[in-house]
Amino acid sequence: MNIPLIDLKAQYESLSKELNEATLGILSSANYIMGKTVLDFEKKFVNYIGVKHAISVGNGTDALVLALKAMGIGKGDEVITTPFTFFATAEAISAVGATPVFVDVEKETFNIDVTKIEEKINSNTKAIMPVHIFGQSADMDEINEIAKKHNLKVVEDACQAIGGKYKGRNIGSLGDVACFSFFPTKNLGCAGDGGMIVTDNDEIATIARALRTHGSGENGQKAYNLLNNIEEEVQTAEGANDTVYNPLKYYNYLIGYNTRLDAIQASILNVKINEIDNWNAKRREIVSIYNEALQNNDLVTPVAKDYNEHVYHMYILQSENREEIISKLKEAGIATGVYYPVPLHLQKVYKDLGYKEGDMPVAEYLSHRTFAIPVYPELTKEQVDYIISKIK
Ligand SMILES: *Cc1c(COP(=O)(O)O)cnc(C)c1O
Repeated sequence: MNIPLIDLKAQYESLSKELNEATLGILSSANYIMGKTVLDFEKKFVNYIGVKHAISVGNGTDALVLALKAMGIGKGDEVITTPFTFFATAEAISAVGATPVFVDVEKETFNIDVTKIEEKINSNTKAIMPVHIFGQSADMDEINEIAKKHNLKVVEDACQAIGGKYKGRNIGSLGDVACFSFFPTKNLGCAGDGGMIVTDNDEIATIARALRTHGSGENGQKAYNLLNNIEEEVQTAEGANDTVYNPLKYYNYLIGYNTRLDAIQASILNVKINEIDNWNAKRREIVSIYNEALQNNDLVTPVAKDYNEHVYHMYILQSENREEIISKLKEAGIATGVYYPVPLHLQKVYKDLGYKEGDMPVAEYLSHRTFAIPVYPELTKEQVDYIISKIK
């Protein structure tokens, strides 16, 4: 039996009729950039997360970059984050000219250790960027309290955690701004790259909207006025806003980016967002079977805090004999993944930051032990049983 880490073909087949209709509809409409389909998805996303603004962008990394820029974070600033995450988290901080400052993680949840944040705060610190790693929320009440005390912004890297909850509240509504990715393997994925910024803050939303499209047009002028404390009427192009035909698009106010969610991707996401709660529930069902079957096997099974609703983007096991288990599973046709083999403070690209081995003992310990086994909504009972029997 061959079981991939995630089966995107099975997901496509479960919705093929709707997805084909949606994408062909965009192709034949010839409205490829922004427009109604994209704005509809942003509206759905606003309702789903329960925030005021959703600004779709080209990918999750750009979402993080624009969020930081929209909050005015740049050269000379420090942003506190975790070393046990996908590179894009820290990369976005570096991309705006700021410095990532790493804080070690908790052994149980793999999330940033909130008891170690305050010792890293200094006069250059501008924000904390927790990552809800593998689909479980970081301890946001503690993080928000520290942020409030030191006047810092909080950016949730929610790229792995759509649909998850913390103390009953939605991930994505827990800080000043949150960022999502629709990379195909994420819990809500499109057929290419996509991302989203969400916030309740009008100013951050306006600047992020401007940065998304070259700092031009109505949004560009509004953002420029906000950044320069100018109060004046902003010219609008009624009905043409946010389309390729916008006559204001050759009026530029900021140095921005070109990072939009394609209409084709939005049409796919408009279909898939209706499934996300069911899909996450299926992931949790499979996880409860794994947890029950795999404990007491010289393996450490993942821990979800009782106040968290974990969405299991990944199911992470730990073992001293990781490499041996991985190669045996490979022989049995079962795919695995190692997340993450090198914590970010030890990445070559960050050698100038001056970290050394031993600085983040928990992240380093985990990096030698963790591995992911398949967890996705379309996994069958037969496949789950096969995986469990082979691991045992
Ligand atoms: C996937 C991911 C990103 C980046 O998203 P892309 O859409 O691939 O750019 C950022 N942070 C985390 C934690 C991720 O898992």
